[in-house]
Amino acid sequence: MQSSPWMLMHSMSQNSRVKGKKLQPQTLRRVLRYAKPYRRKLVVFVIAVAAASAVAVVPPLLLRDLLDVAIPNHNGGLVMWLALAAVGVALMDAVLNLYQRWLAAQIGEGLIYDMRTQLFDHVQRMPIAFFTRTQTGALISRMNNDVIGAQRAVTTTLSQILSNVIGVTATLVVMFALSVPITLIALVVVPIFIFAAKYIGRKLRAVTLESMNLDSGMNTLMTERLGVSGALLVKLFGQADADRDEFADRAGRVRDIGILSAIYARGFFVILALVAALVTAAVYWIGGMSAINGSMKVGTIAALTLYLAQLYMPLTALTNARVDYLSAMVSFERVFEVLDLDQEIKERPDSQTLSNIRGDVQFDHVSFSYPKGGKFLESLGDVATPKTHDEGREVLSDVAFEIQPGALCALVGPSGAGKTTVSMLLPRLYDVTSGAIKIDGVDVRDLSFASLNRAIGVVTQDPHLFHVSIAENLRFARPDATEAELEAACRVANIHHVIAALPDGYDTVVGERGYRLSGGEKQRVAIARMLLKDPAIVILDEATSHLDSESEHLIQEAFDVALRGRSSLVIAHRLSTIMAADRILVLDQGRIVESGTHAQLLGQGGLYADLFNTQFLTSPAKRAAGP
Ligand code: ATP
Repeated sequence: MQSSPWMLMHSMSQNSRVKGKKLQPQTLRRVLRYAKPYRRKLVVFVIAVAAASAVAVVPPLLLRDLLDVAIPNHNGGLVMWLALAAVGVALMDAVLNLYQRWLAAQIGEGLIYDMRTQLFDHVQRMPIAFFTRTQTGALISRMNNDVIGAQRAVTTTLSQILSNVIGVTATLVVMFALSVPITLIALVVVPIFIFAAKYIGRKLRAVTLESMNLDSGMNTLMTERLGVSGALLVKLFGQADADRDEFADRAGRVRDIGILSAIYARGFFVILALVAALVTAAVYWIGGMSAINGSMKVGTIAALTLYLAQLYMPLTALTNARVDYLSAMVSFERVFEVLDLDQEIKERPDSQTLSNIRGDVQFDHVSFSYPKGGKFLESLGDVATPKTHDEGREVLSDVAFEIQPGALCALVGPSGAGKTTVSMLLPRLYDVTSGAIKIDGVDVRDLSFASLNRAIGVVTQDPHLFHVSIAENLRFARPDATEAELEAACRVANIHHVIAALPDGYDTVVGERGYRLSGGEKQRVAIARMLLKDPAIVILDEATSHLDSESEHLIQEAFDVALRGRSSLVIAHRLSTIMAADRILVLDQGRIVESGTHAQLLGQGGLYADLFNTQFLTSPAKRAAGP
């Protein structure tokens, strides 16, 4: 397999990625472990590469025989055989090349399939703290680009290095056999060529890097400005002209660097052609003189000229083999880095399974601090978010309460008091720093993920719907739910009539780019989704946003039915909720400062009474509670 000039330029421009990079010794061992299922194919592949390289040496020899033996001897039969051999060699070369490519692709794609599925599964199971601290774009780019880099390493780099080593060796052996002086001359100019190529490679690398940065800047601007929220801001602030100028400026720089890069890339080939012409001239000269004095035949000179063309590109590529190898390993290493991220919130091997969950929830002197920044990301480096001053601060201190099975517990408190945090600890989105949270007397950390998951249903303020049909969104909670069950849940959640009126009913695609449901409708779909799951414990974050009274009423009804018979922890924003609560917990700066029923707390005249007067009595929820 010949290395294409473009591949060569590409690998030269990759140097920067591996500059000063120290590889972990275990990386190669780990890569080999991934390659293990494909080892038989790998052996066949190496044989195919060797065979293809051997075949590539034959055509110049055929020409030599034609010129030196067949034609001078007027041997028509041999001419025919040589012609047939040329066809045969070409066919063999084609078949071997295809076969080798097929094998490389099978190994590369297979290996990458294994790695990609493992990576997705691993990242998906990372704790939520990882996602809050990781830039999605950077993570996705790593999962795509580095996996593709690793794939290229197997399918291209490996076969390139292999075929170049075998190809150059075979060519040199034959060349030396044909003429030692000419081969030596051919080799003497190689360093000049490599030096020039490296020089241009360096220039090209700098230009490529800059162009990548400029490209990414341009893309960021496009993504920001052309997203709905960005476009809205641009319109509202009348910034279209300024944005156009900024974009034009960036695009202009991308254009200029593109031109420079084209010149450098072409410069490489110009030098290649010049050096090759120089050596060809030397071959003509020495070969011609040798032919005149009878020490060399014409066919040999012709064959040597052909071999020259076969020698330089692979030789130059090989001088870059170390970089190719390193950059391939870097791709693998970056993938391994993600695979090695600690999942932290793990299921214990001896985890308990709860059947018939009653829904007794107990917070046993729980304290909590959010994980420190850089915890997950130091190894990911480029996706690390800046550390915040808040890190390590105790967000919850000694929170203790119990929810009896079927009871409604309302959480209230000023913004930032820690209400959402409490709701996230129960389903183990984070683990407590000290203390324990128990369901039916069992520490949630001792429960199997399946049990915990089955026990708890969550409806957030602004629930997320995937970009799939409503039915599929609902079945996310219970994949085997029948249509009748979906409909029943949606009726209870007061959303069936809305869905039924949509053009495609339950098959209407919603979510990011789909049909837009209003905030209230979305929350009702989320209630239906939660109902399908039928959990014993419900966590509910009531919407603070203004809803019209019709919508409020529908949601209120849905909640009433949904919470019936379930233990519920509600971050309350509605008057009706706090009135109906069996117990209200008032959180302030991470501590429970008051606790009791509405009437008791109001009587105390403390923080709750303040909150009640300032928040609940003036909030739109007041309307929902009725007169
Ligand atoms: P609100 O009513 O405004 O939603 P809240 O009572 O729900 O507030 P929380 O969201 O639980 O409050 O936040 C409690 C504290 O924890 C806040 O000071 C917040 O800054 C901090 N906090 C929240 N999420 C994180 C996080 N991922 N990392 C670090 N600190 C956080």
